[in-house]
Amino acid sequence: MMKRAYKYRFYPTPGQATELARTFGCVRLVYNKALEERTRVYTLHGRRVSYVETSAALTAWKKTPELSFLGEVSSVPLQQALRHLQAAFVNFFARRAKYPVFKARKKSRASAEYTRSAFRWRDGRLTLAKMDAPLDIVWSRPLPEGAQPSTVTVSKDAAGRWFVSLLVEEAITPLPPAERSVGVDAGITALVTLSTGEKIANPTFERADRRKLARAQRVLARKQKESNNRIKARLRVAKVYTRIADRRRDFLHKVTTRLVRENQVIAVEDLTVRNMVKNRSLAGAIADASWRDLRMMLEYKAAWYGRTLVAVDRWFPSSKLCSACGTMRDKMPLNVREWTCPACGETHDRDVNAARNVLAAGLAES
Ligand SMILES: [Zn+2]
Repeated sequence: MMKRAYKYRFYPTPGQATELARTFGCVRLVYNKALEERTRVYTLHGRRVSYVETSAALTAWKKTPELSFLGEVSSVPLQQALRHLQAAFVNFFARRAKYPVFKARKKSRASAEYTRSAFRWRDGRLTLAKMDAPLDIVWSRPLPEGAQPSTVTVSKDAAGRWFVSLLVEEAITPLPPAERSVGVDAGITALVTLSTGEKIANPTFERADRRKLARAQRVLARKQKESNNRIKARLRVAKVYTRIADRRRDFLHKVTTRLVRENQVIAVEDLTVRNMVKNRSLAGAIADASWRDLRMMLEYKAAWYGRTLVAVDRWFPSSKLCSACGTMRDKMPLNVREWTCPACGETHDRDVNAARNVLAAGLAES
């Protein structure tokens, strides 16, 4: 059994939208206030604060006149915010993450998490605590037969769209073993290049989308600060951006599902530092985000379907090695797209050669 999240759009009634906006605000306030308190105790007294203590503090805040409104929204999302903060501190103390930061109203994603005691799930209808009508959800794909959501997360994105994500337990059957294995190189010109020689290009719609995004950003830059037109322009940028992100995610799902179906072992480079550092352009940022998403999708799909994903050390010189004879070149500047090995005479496409080396290193490691 695996836990899997199903995300859908929904359309709140004006009353539900108000209730949710209020809940989001309270979630952010509780998170920030608990973070402030933990930081204070940690800095002044060198002591770690436990989840139980923050939970007791929340109860006390609700009893004060200035914070009594915290008692008007469902208490579960507030408790969940404290649990998330606890997890962030556990990761920080284990040196897995940076010190937690405050949730800013404009920058952080507005969301609230409801556990089972705070929602009703009956006949495929979902009703949240403090609401009398179920959410109007667009069931763009069916939930698995008989699924019982254990956690429900409601969120609103920068483009003003509402989403609900339902976490359900599901039995996933591994695929029959595959004969083939593949090496994947994160592309500069293509999205990815495979060791088979195939190049998977960036989706063609993206060029037009990016032009639209650049135009919307130019319009936004010309608007006066704090003006209504600026708010409208910012929403327009967010809409174009989310459209790019959505279409790209669909595309990445198709690519990763195919790779996992066809191959038993999938070898990838462990994070492309060269891209992450150098690409600060918009196109570069989108490419970096794509590679991260692609990695993540490959990881969980490989786990679901009984495949092996191997991450090859990022310092492995995949571009400099000849995949035919193993000779290593001193240098391989980024602008060299094709080269001939001086030792064996083989002519290589730069990316295909790198993907082949990644596959060989991956098979050696697995
Ligand atoms: Zn060679």
